[in-house]
Amino acid sequence: PVPVITVDGPSGVGKGLVTRWLSQRLGGWHRLDSGALYRILALAAQRAGVPDSDGPAVAALVPGLRIEFTGDTEQDEAILVDGENWADTVRAETSGALASRIAALPEVRAALLQLQKDFRRAPGLIADGRDMGTVVFPDAPLKIFMDASPDERAARRYKQLSDKGIPATLDSLCEEIRARDARDRNRPIAPLKPAEGAEVVDTTGLSPAEVLGKVETLLRR
Ligand code: C5P
Repeated sequence: PVPVITVDGPSGVGKGLVTRWLSQRLGGWHRLDSGALYRILALAAQRAGVPDSDGPAVAALVPGLRIEFTGDTEQDEAILVDGENWADTVRAETSGALASRIAALPEVRAALLQLQKDFRRAPGLIADGRDMGTVVFPDAPLKIFMDASPDERAARRYKQLSDKGIPATLDSLCEEIRARDARDRNRPIAPLKPAEGAEVVDTTGLSPAEVLGKVETLLRR
């Protein structure tokens, strides 16, 4: 089977940094940003006027979504939905919160399962999200679980946003991160937790270079 590396963890922990680096390091493996799929679906439901509590109705939108990811860096990223670039909206904090609501619906998780598996193509796939190692690719030969304190993740996010000139406050980011963590960790279906056999990387207090150094060590094993 085509090899997969799974990278799971809470929001703002640096999964994007690690998956982009791994993809380059391994000579162009494909990437699956599963969180973006949940975000897109939540936005599509909002557009269609479907309530975010109606599992079957939200799930029914999945077959109609034509999604294409392009660009290798955060800066040149485009997320095309039916040919329209949704990247800015998809990346907004509010979309993360919307996504975590529909992500708790079993019908939605079931509808996205095959779509996610279809990203597995030669030479290999790096898949990031919450349940890549536990549910979607349980046979992955390398599973990474990244973690960091909520305060540290809020501080990183704050810096990211201010670098882009997007207004935010540390307090509200911290609160959002804690609320989303609680929803993702405590839901009955596919709760966020390390997969069996996952390598746990705690990035609290580490620079990006130090995080990548740890991942490099895991690759060499
Ligand atoms: O990773 P990202 O912040 O884009 O994910 C948005 C939300 O989508 C998460 O808070 C989580 O509730 C949901 N999600 C999920 N399973 C995944 C990826 C994302 O439940 N594999």
